[in-house]
Amino acid sequence: MDLLTVENLKMHFPVHGGVFYRQVATVFAVDGVNFTIEPGKTLGLVGESGCGKSTIGRALLRLYEPTAGKVSFEGQDITHLQGKGLRDLRLDMQMIFQDPFESLNPRHTIGDILEEPFVIHNLGSPAERKQEVLKLLDRVGMPAEAIHKYPHEFSGGQRQRIGIARAIALKPKLIICDEPVSALDVSIQSQILNLLLELQQEMGMAYLFVAHDLSVIKHVSDQIAVMYLGRIVEIADSETLYQNPMHPYTQALISSIPVPDPRQRKNFLPLHGEVPSPLNPPPHCHFVDRCPYAQERCNTETPRLSQMSANEGHQVACHFAGEL
Ligand code: SF4
Repeated sequence: MDLLTVENLKMHFPVHGGVFYRQVATVFAVDGVNFTIEPGKTLGLVGESGCGKSTIGRALLRLYEPTAGKVSFEGQDITHLQGKGLRDLRLDMQMIFQDPFESLNPRHTIGDILEEPFVIHNLGSPAERKQEVLKLLDRVGMPAEAIHKYPHEFSGGQRQRIGIARAIALKPKLIICDEPVSALDVSIQSQILNLLLELQQEMGMAYLFVAHDLSVIKHVSDQIAVMYLGRIVEIADSETLYQNPMHPYTQALISSIPVPDPRQRKNFLPLHGEVPSPLNPPPHCHFVDRCPYAQERCNTETPRLSQMSANEGHQVACHFAGEL
């Protein structure tokens, strides 16, 4: 059974304005998204900023109330869970944030921050909780003395290790990693990615790994979904997506990845222009304004994610996939 199933998830935000502060527009941040995550596996979610990928993570954790669609965790519908049900879900589903400094309370010591999940869920005695905190610090490569220090006394990489320690404290089954390395120096990024991979092997949890950089996501993902303006435009296992991208947007993202040997670069047509506003996306194919292959049909018929016959699990939303 899949750990997480997301069906036709929509997240629309009203925009208010005018004298009477009426709704004047809608931001279509996530516009009908489907995917699954298996236990112990990683789904990478990639796309330019503003494509809705971080909004999905927040809607899954119910930091936002989904506008429509269904989210199931271990077969249970959690779309509109409230109260105790939602608190219990947070034992199994945690989040690692992009900016660990903003997500760690500056007035609390690291010991208090890491003890908090145990206190909220009323787990263990004070002495047992302290032992768990020390084990967590050790597991993420931090010294025991950190327990008495404050977040500002650490570097960005160390703060992200503390954020990871907090996320794994209750041994969740799924962690939503929201751009966990994009605020870090390149030299530190690989250390954090390796730590996440080691923890996954050891603890068997699944990740939804959100990133805007395909080269980062490649090394950590079993499957990758590419998003554009609130929709998934291509989804495949990691190897297939890199070797045989079929959506023009994925092709452009892959050809922009720097490679040491220019002869190995995949030369697809580059991207032009900016992502249109999610307030007013093109009505059918959202990519039509930037697509070098656009034809009349793309302005009159919405391309649906369709299975590519050559590879099971490879789905593409383009009328001309396989011909480009
Ligand atoms: Fe381009 Fe048309 Fe395919 Fe959209 S449906 S990606 S506009 S070719």
